[in-house]
Amino acid sequence: MRVADFHCDVLSKLQSAPNIDFRKDARLDVTSERLMAGGVELQVFAIYLSAAQGKLSFERILGQIEAYRHNVVGTGGLQCLRWKEEAAGMAVTPSAWGMLSLEGVDGLEGNLFYAELIFELGVRFLGLTWNYANWAADGVLEQRNGGFTEQGRKLIEWCNDSGMLLDVSHLAPAGFWELAERSSRPFIASHSNAAAVCGHPRNLSDEQIGALVAMDGRIGLTFVPWFVTAGGDAKAADVLRHIEHVCTLGGSRQIMFGSDFDGIESWVEGLEHPGKYAEFAELLLRHYPEDEVKGWLYGNAQSFLASHLPAKTANIYLS
Ligand SMILES: [Zn+2]
Repeated sequence: MRVADFHCDVLSKLQSAPNIDFRKDARLDVTSERLMAGGVELQVFAIYLSAAQGKLSFERILGQIEAYRHNVVGTGGLQCLRWKEEAAGMAVTPSAWGMLSLEGVDGLEGNLFYAELIFELGVRFLGLTWNYANWAADGVLEQRNGGFTEQGRKLIEWCNDSGMLLDVSHLAPAGFWELAERSSRPFIASHSNAAAVCGHPRNLSDEQIGALVAMDGRIGLTFVPWFVTAGGDAKAADVLRHIEHVCTLGGSRQIMFGSDFDGIESWVEGLEHPGKYAEFAELLLRHYPEDEVKGWLYGNAQSFLASHLPAKTANIYLS
């Protein structure tokens, strides 16, 4: 079964240990061998800068793009997905694709030209924040629950103009609702579950899920154990409760997956790495119609990209 996965954190591992072999290193959850074994034809690679490793600078963003270009695209042999025409072709011709996203705009240092540069280098999704406040907006663990700053509003405008897509996983609820008002394009939550099933602040309320469904955005259900079940002792079958909940809110066509592999240190039993997607697909097929399962695992992600990625002919030189 074909699979698209909208979030993993392997690039920060590749950046901090450049001699890791992305094809098969045992220290990684995501390797090119496992992507192939699991049928993962599209993997989104997040650029995530940890504050523990120093200043959140543009230079460190470039370091992870370098790791992606050399290890994932170069040695790993994945193609870099950037344009809507490629996303349309993907549906017809099976191939292994990678795509870049940025998790938290901190390292853009408030500079929109830096945003333009990473767009040029292939980054297509911006996650606005990690868990805390930055120059653009507040993250979910920021107690004051603020919306966007003036600079953050300019960033939304630039994204809408350029075709850089937005990701609200980690964004505080106030920011979510402000973005829903301001954004002229639908957005996604790349790795979040349903709060009604597991009440974690990183999960989405029914109102947020309803808004994503209404705008035809996407919800990447995630395999972070403590976002799946309250105690974090989770099995693959527990993910089904989140799927069913989103479906009861009318969101079957908006569901996709964003594992968060390599961003976690404990795993859902049966979903420890991308190679396990093959078994997970079988589990889903035992419970749900094939059409729907195909949509969740691949089709919904692919159709969003074929509609919303910029066209190759787009003018990215904004005035
Ligand atoms: Zn995350």
